[in-house]
Amino acid sequence: MTEFETKLVHGIPQNDNQTGAVNVPVYNSSTYIFPKVAAKIRWDYARSGNPTRNYLEDQLAALEGGAQGFAFSSGLAAIHAVLSIFSPGDHLVIGNTIYGGTFRLINQFFKRWQLEFTAVDTQDPRQVEAAVQENTKAIYFETFTNPLLKVTSVKQIAQLARKHNLLTIVDNTFLTPYLQQPLALGADIVIHSATKYLGGHSDTVAGIAVAKSATLAQQIYFNQNGIGAVLSPENANLIRRGIQTLALRMEKHTSNAAKVVSFLQKQAQVTHVYYPGIPGTRDYEIATAEAKGYGGVLSFELRQDLDAQRFVEKLKLIKLAVSLGAVESLIELPAKMTHAELSPKEQLAVGITPQLVRLAVGIEDPRDLIADLAQALGE
Ligand SMILES: *Cc1c(COP(=O)(O)O)cnc(C)c1O
Repeated sequence: MTEFETKLVHGIPQNDNQTGAVNVPVYNSSTYIFPKVAAKIRWDYARSGNPTRNYLEDQLAALEGGAQGFAFSSGLAAIHAVLSIFSPGDHLVIGNTIYGGTFRLINQFFKRWQLEFTAVDTQDPRQVEAAVQENTKAIYFETFTNPLLKVTSVKQIAQLARKHNLLTIVDNTFLTPYLQQPLALGADIVIHSATKYLGGHSDTVAGIAVAKSATLAQQIYFNQNGIGAVLSPENANLIRRGIQTLALRMEKHTSNAAKVVSFLQKQAQVTHVYYPGIPGTRDYEIATAEAKGYGGVLSFELRQDLDAQRFVEKLKLIKLAVSLGAVESLIELPAKMTHAELSPKEQLAVGITPQLVRLAVGIEDPRDLIADLAQALGE
């Protein structure tokens, strides 16, 4: 069991039951027997540890090449636990287009607790370096941003972080360990909203964090257990199952996305397509150097005279919904849906226009997706 795709299917060999079951059981037990008062037992209480959840955590640690993995009740819970390793007065440099929920967590909670943040375009290492202060402790960013798919080099940022003795924390939800393993590129902590590609079926909300070093792992574990937003055994099992087909799904998402991109590029109604797999951009160069593929999310601008709302509502097969990373294709208007919390001015500052459409391409037959887009574009 050495190759990545084999690891996805087989996971960590298990010998914790006598049944010969090929899958780890869903252990619905919140508490565990102490043979003696002073006994040192592996599991005592399920917030601290549960064999089903721990199986998933070990599986993620192996796939990401980290010391230890942690599974949370949502992606935001994972981010909360990771950012809770810092103390009042610490400063973090963060990406200026990170996930909206992460911004809310930072602005409404961590700032209240005197953590300091500077948001910059992490694609530009000079901006990142200029934002580093004496009390800076970490750089936090997303490898592919949402919804414009801007790509940040993990290698470059991690190098810069090491120079200033900072941690590199990467939200790699859009790529998954199948397309990229940030810890191998120099990052210290990788985070996922497992709600998206790792789960893959729009039926579970979950989060993952993997730490490269045992020291960081200890800190995250303390927060996971101390704050308590752990993933349930049932949901850990769903993510475990999703991971078994990750390679197949990511390959199909990626090849479907490429076909949809080449269709959209030929449409007169579409003025711009954002996708890291389009040659000729810096995003393409970084993604090609540091990832195994370009993923399943893309966005595009509709021509000014078209009604974007009407377009997305006219789609029949492609569902109008937020979220991404599932087997079915989902489409949305960032300005009115995922990024509605930003004012129109803030939206424009980060390139989100009312004509921008985000499409999370699923694993359907691409001909059906293209036919649906074509009919909604009014051909
Ligand atoms: C969805 C998402 C999150 C938040 O995860 P939840 O599981 O919804 O809490 C964080 N980061 C990115 C990039 C996401 O897409």
